[in-house]
Amino acid sequence: MQTSSDGAGLRAVFFDRDGTVVHDVPYNGDPAKVRLVDGAVEAFTRLRTAGLRTGIVTNQSGIGRGLITAAQADAVTAEVVRRLGGVDVVRTCPHAPDEGCACRKPAPGLVLSAAAALGLAPAEVAVVGDSSTDAGAADAAGARSVLVPGARTPGEGAVHEEAPDLAAALDLLLTATAAR
Ligand SMILES: [Mg+2]
Ligand SMILES: [Zn+2]
Repeated sequence: MQTSSDGAGLRAVFFDRDGTVVHDVPYNGDPAKVRLVDGAVEAFTRLRTAGLRTGIVTNQSGIGRGLITAAQADAVTAEVVRRLGGVDVVRTCPHAPDEGCACRKPAPGLVLSAAAALGLAPAEVAVVGDSSTDAGAADAAGARSVLVPGARTPGEGAVHEEAPDLAAALDLLLTATAAR
């Protein structure tokens, strides 16, 4: 029983890609290696049914490091989106960590850009991820966040909630929304 959720007003949920909706294959440039995590399709279906928008916000530093091309990264994301049955917005940071960009999570750029593309304020958005960088990006943008295991790095420093899997993350986010 959720009694303190502030999910009312939630309009969109953005997901990290690697380690959150797909099993992480470092610097993957091959769509054939895409394996969705259990519950990913169900999570996106549930959000659509609830009338919420969906998105993917993903750091792909393999591009900036010269390990994969932007086209390869985009092909992998396109395969993820296809298997999820479509998402409303995708934002990708192609930069290496030392480029000092405004979009590589935990910077807020991807979350802000994706929210703006849907005409939403960051406060109407939640981010689901598996890393402190996801929580940091959401926190910096003014969005809510839920971290799901196997979090490689728990959410140090940034305001966030935690759930054992994607279904539980949506339980947390949708409780108050569904009651409206
Ligand atoms: Mg991740
Ligand atoms: Zn960037």
